[in-house]
Amino acid sequence: MARQQQYDVLVIGSGAAGLTLALHLADNLRVAVISKGRLSEGSTFWAQGGVAAVLDDTDTVDAHVQDTLIAGAGLCHEEAVRQIVGDSRDAIGWLVEQGVPFTRERREDGSESDDFHLTREGGHSHRRIIHAADATGAAIFNTLLQQAQAHSNIELLENRVAVDLITSAKLGQPGNRCLGAYILDRDSGHVDTFGARFTVLATGGASKVYLYTSNPDSASGDGIAMAWRAGCRVANMEFNQFHPTCLYHPRAKSFLITEALRGEGALLKLPDGSRFMPRFDDRAELAPRDIVARAIDHEMKRLGLDCVYLDISHKPADFIREHFPTVHERCLSFGIDITREPIPVVPAAHYTCGGVMVDSTGLTDVDHLYAIGETSFTGLHGANRMASNSLLECIVYGRAASRDILDKLPESALPDQLPTWDESLVTDSDEDVIISHNWEELRRFMWDYVGIVRTTKRLQRAKHRVDMLLAEIHEFYSNYTVSRDLLELRNLALVADLIIRSAMLRQESRGLHYTLDYPQQLEQAQDTILQPPSADD
Ligand SMILES: Cc1cc2nc3c(=O)[nH]c(=O)nc-3n(C[C@H](O)[C@H](O)[C@H](O)COP(=O)(O)OP(=O)(O)OC[C@H]3O[C@@H](n4cnc5c(N)ncnc54)[C@H](O)[C@@H]3O)c2cc1C
Repeated sequence: MARQQQYDVLVIGSGAAGLTLALHLADNLRVAVISKGRLSEGSTFWAQGGVAAVLDDTDTVDAHVQDTLIAGAGLCHEEAVRQIVGDSRDAIGWLVEQGVPFTRERREDGSESDDFHLTREGGHSHRRIIHAADATGAAIFNTLLQQAQAHSNIELLENRVAVDLITSAKLGQPGNRCLGAYILDRDSGHVDTFGARFTVLATGGASKVYLYTSNPDSASGDGIAMAWRAGCRVANMEFNQFHPTCLYHPRAKSFLITEALRGEGALLKLPDGSRFMPRFDDRAELAPRDIVARAIDHEMKRLGLDCVYLDISHKPADFIREHFPTVHERCLSFGIDITREPIPVVPAAHYTCGGVMVDSTGLTDVDHLYAIGETSFTGLHGANRMASNSLLECIVYGRAASRDILDKLPESALPDQLPTWDESLVTDSDEDVIISHNWEELRRFMWDYVGIVRTTKRLQRAKHRVDMLLAEIHEFYSNYTVSRDLLELRNLALVADLIIRSAMLRQESRGLHYTLDYPQQLEQAQDTILQPPSADD
């Protein structure tokens, strides 16, 4: 039986953004946090490098802001950058209070000091990445989850897939307020109705739209697609960051080799052992990710290579094992000893810079609907995200949204009884092969036509294909019972369409968007903003 449930706040997503927000609200409100798979399913758990923050006495907010603006290639919103970077010390303080075990500096005698060890990553002019060895995301996730589990006002629900948002506009009522969401319970197979005073999208990114990605399976852009269908604008969807170095091995599904390796001196090499990055950029291996990814793509295409190599074996073995235990162990499990040999690597889709447009509190265009973390567009990343700024954004916006929700509480009643999900007109599909085929096709043409290097012709081809897929998926969705795979495919196809349309609108090369037809950067930097059709269109 499908159920009706009510909460003060419904948080869709249990990563860094969703858990931070829930913890900030739980003393005052009843909060449900849902995840479409296990609670650890999101990207947060896999983050290795760390969180960028101004913590060192020689570093300044201005320097961090400037580095971010430079990486963002003219498109960052300086106000948002200042807000996030300005709050970075407090954000880390809060994580430390929660108990996140960040790595400490070691004294000469080998004992731990009180100071945190800060590492450096591409684009950063200072050492400012606080980390927990090379498994920072897991340390943050496990700590926040433990705190959430201990709180009686937080209900953590696994295997629940948000299908769509319920809004007053969809119900034919005046205005456009979010009233909750329809949630597929994968255990019972029913779609439940969750009513909430406030709904928060914390669903992560959309990198799964590409064939090769560093992201977990959850990154199918569900929040962006749901927000769009509810009437929210999205911005800068053409800026997809490709991480330069994912492990290249037939059995390694999306394992990332953290940028911190390059920060600590790892070198990129061709199969003959020669370096190539100095030919592309003065910063060599520490150039921003887009430059490194394009250089690797260029060398792989030029020489017909399957991969290039990342080599840190010139560093002492003890240092490597202490600083990169996860990478070391994971590579060893594939027979690669990084203390003695180079690591085969390729670029892969890694981060979605665009997303649901929000204000400085995470509020979207729809009343009572917030978007935080990777699913949102705050203006921080511009045309290219700087390494380790994203977890920072999750923590800062988790708190900013919670404050706005508490401010608005007096004027926000629980919604009335909401209509239940209508399953009477659909049947079980006996053609799931269509879903898996379309998944594969979509992700392959996005990789081939809308990847690291683009052209107008390739984008037109991709647009043609995505239009056909959207029609086919719509028909499938209207006639068959929903499943996680079908819902993700529906969302991925919509997000692919938004990416392609945004890329076609940008007639220049800037940051992560590089097209052979418009190799120059225009003088004026402008966001690409897409507006969903209104119900009357
Ligand atoms: C391998 C890797 C390494 C990274 N390293 C770093 C780093 O060192 N520093 C840094 O700053 N950033 C890093 N990033 C990026 C960073 O991890 C992410 O941007 C950030 O964790 C996103 O957090 P989030 O809370 O927005 O979403 P996520 O952590 O991705 O969580 C998304 C949640 O939403 C849920 N969800 C999605 N759709 C639905 C739905 N329809 N219904 C119900 N639930 C849903 C998922 O189940 C999951 O719980 C890395 C990313 C990857 C993949």
